[in-house]
Amino acid sequence: MGTSYSWHPGARGLRSRWPITPALLPDELLSSWLVRAALAHGCSPESLTSTAWPGYRAFCRDIDRGMENGRLSALVKATGITYRELSSSTLQSAVQSLLGTENQYPVGVLPWILVLGCRKQFHAGGLQCCPDCMDLPDPHYVIQNRLAWHTVCPAHHVQLIDHCDHCYAALQPALLHPGALMSNCHQCGKGLSSFHRLPAAPQALAFQMLVDRSCGKPMCFGNIELCFRDWMSTARAMITFLQTAARHPSANVERFCEAIGFDPAWRQRTLSGLPFEYLRPGERARLLGNVVVIMQAGPEKFMEMAINASLPESILPLPVSNAPRLLIHMASVLTKHPRKTTSQTCHKPSHDQRQVLRMWIRLQRRVRRNDI
Ligand SMILES: [Zn+2]
Ligand SMILES: [Zn+2]
Repeated sequence: MGTSYSWHPGARGLRSRWPITPALLPDELLSSWLVRAALAHGCSPESLTSTAWPGYRAFCRDIDRGMENGRLSALVKATGITYRELSSSTLQSAVQSLLGTENQYPVGVLPWILVLGCRKQFHAGGLQCCPDCMDLPDPHYVIQNRLAWHTVCPAHHVQLIDHCDHCYAALQPALLHPGALMSNCHQCGKGLSSFHRLPAAPQALAFQMLVDRSCGKPMCFGNIELCFRDWMSTARAMITFLQTAARHPSANVERFCEAIGFDPAWRQRTLSGLPFEYLRPGERARLLGNVVVIMQAGPEKFMEMAINASLPESILPLPVSNAPRLLIHMASVLTKHPRKTTSQTCHKPSHDQRQVLRMWIRLQRRVRRNDI
């Protein structure tokens, strides 16, 4: 193939049963390749996959997270592409690097993997692309388009898109009709390459390139070297820290943010309150830009500034499993406040502007998924 790749080099099918089997392109996602194969046959992706998997509605679930061995073997027979090659076009390698899990099909929201939010055949989001890359020959979606630390295109220096800017539908190539192009919006037909471009956020690009360069290798948190999994787990905890700090503003939080060097407007721009893996590229980019600042400062500075600002331990929730020891130590130095009893808690119904905006963003996501 001769093209550079990060996750897999691509593949060609040998003795395929399907009349047309396009080559799996470097780093291409399994679902993207299936959609291109269907469009090449002039049929819908659902119709094509039903020939390999009768009665199985492949696109009503997140097949890029992996599937049972039997289903992948059926696809090997239909397409002539090997099991290993097909498996490498799923997110399994990325999940393995991030979690180190032996479980092939971990369930629930996985850190750093964008969530599609499937409800029947409709998705709420979770797939992104670069409008300029969609203008190239053979437009397709790659593994990087499902990784939450990817928010900008390193080749074209623009922010990634995850929705149609005309009809606001989430990108969902599996719903493209026969005759459509891979680079079209499935709902209104508008070309994704014609979308308005936003410039790449330099700090988010720096974070993205750092992680891509270091994937699987040790990385530095300040002056401390951590294994890749622990570094990513720490960076993910820092995102939760930033989101919690934004939701619970206080003079102490402001003091910490000023001391560590955040842009003073960062909190106003962190709105939705959804978990990071549900967020749109712009909001993720803003959070990652601040995570870079923390990861460069290192644990000593973080703890020193957090102690000076008397940040509460509740502001740094630990991952539910396999929290790095350094992160546990960092959380342990934060101020412990006695739990509030029910009688002390004041449940005032407050609906300030930020809360209403958060509720509005959640509602929009639900509406898109349910195709209302
Ligand atoms: Zn691009
Ligand atoms: Zn559209």
